[in-house]
Amino acid sequence: MSITTTLSIDEIRAQFPVLDQQVNGKPLIYFDNAATSQKPKQVIDALSHYYNRDNSNIHRGIHTLAERATSAYEETRKAAQAFINAPEAEEIVFTKGTTEGINLVAQAYGRKFLKAGDEIIITSMEHHSNIVPWQILCQQTGAELKVIPINNRGEIIYEEYLKLLSDKTKIVSAVYISNALGTINPIKEIIADAHKAGAITLVDAAQAAPHEKVDVKDLNCDFLALSAHKMYGPTGVGILYGKRLLLEKMDAYQGGGEMISEVTFAKTTFNDIPYKFEAGTPNIGDVVAFKAAMDFMSQIGHQFLHDHEQRLLDEGTKLLSEIDGFEPIGTAESKASVISFNVENIHPFDLGMWLDAKGIAVRTGHHCTQPLMDIFQIEGTVRASFAVYNTVDEVAYFAQALKEIVSKFRK
Ligand code: PMP
Repeated sequence: MSITTTLSIDEIRAQFPVLDQQVNGKPLIYFDNAATSQKPKQVIDALSHYYNRDNSNIHRGIHTLAERATSAYEETRKAAQAFINAPEAEEIVFTKGTTEGINLVAQAYGRKFLKAGDEIIITSMEHHSNIVPWQILCQQTGAELKVIPINNRGEIIYEEYLKLLSDKTKIVSAVYISNALGTINPIKEIIADAHKAGAITLVDAAQAAPHEKVDVKDLNCDFLALSAHKMYGPTGVGILYGKRLLLEKMDAYQGGGEMISEVTFAKTTFNDIPYKFEAGTPNIGDVVAFKAAMDFMSQIGHQFLHDHEQRLLDEGTKLLSEIDGFEPIGTAESKASVISFNVENIHPFDLGMWLDAKGIAVRTGHHCTQPLMDIFQIEGTVRASFAVYNTVDEVAYFAQALKEIVSKFRK
């Protein structure tokens, strides 16, 4: 059961030093959390502690610092296992992030097991990182990419998904929560139906992990990829979860140190999972600090995160809808704390610049989902995305600022 924090939002905000500053003469309002979240002091301190006290290379040293660094690195693996409820710690592979996790599966699984005529299914709302690795794999193997269509609210059309599934389907790789629309996909059903067709599944949980309780046992996914930097943790670290039986039968991803068991010039045998997929010196310090981020989220509790962010979403949606020319992009019934929108006759970049002048950080552009923007026949959107340290007052200030910008522009 998830614990719910007794901290107030002010107390939570106080843990984020970066929030306490002025930008362009105004208090910073950070609404670009879907791109990357800010980091609490306990994460910054964990990173600084690692470099101040424990820095050493891992697994190969027998001296005290090497043992400390190895144990802190492996502690994060156990913390990640618990965080996503994976059956075994060996099923957690450290990566650079979601992108690397998906590429790893495409190459180490896909290249070995897919052939011409096989099919891979994704949704219309995928981030480029869940499109391009499969396109590369299709070029390499002759497999074909199929795309589940969406309705005008930005929800997948489930019957169309069922029609795409067949005995040719080998992989279904779907985003859990869309970064561009906020849509929460029925991921458990998507996985169950893929399995019925005999396909394996990958979940892009980059946006789900910061907001939802991600439970790989409950989802029964075969692979799941996420990024620490969207979960109050450092950049350059993520995890790929994979079921043991699949990870064991996959090829190695990259060759080098750490991933080997024995090397001769004639032949190499590979290390056991997960080390088989962790070639070279990893990003030790950031992996260590990632544990502090998961601890932070667990201390707050998923229920609190969810409830608070939904409140921000509801309030923001209500206030922005009152603005002249406001056009929401992505109005799914089941939605996370992302508001993507355009304002009629104003370019999203202009809105982003004027909001920045008021101290408000939002994302503008295609959000690495160009095919999705094409479906909506737009160049891009303005995206405000919320995290636990954002407040209802900030949302109200943002809506007021946007109203003023729009009314000035439209005069
Ligand atoms: N998928 C989704 C849904 C995302 O939002 C992102 C990051 N914007 C990614 C994948 C890629 O994550 P990363 O850049 O951390 O690898």
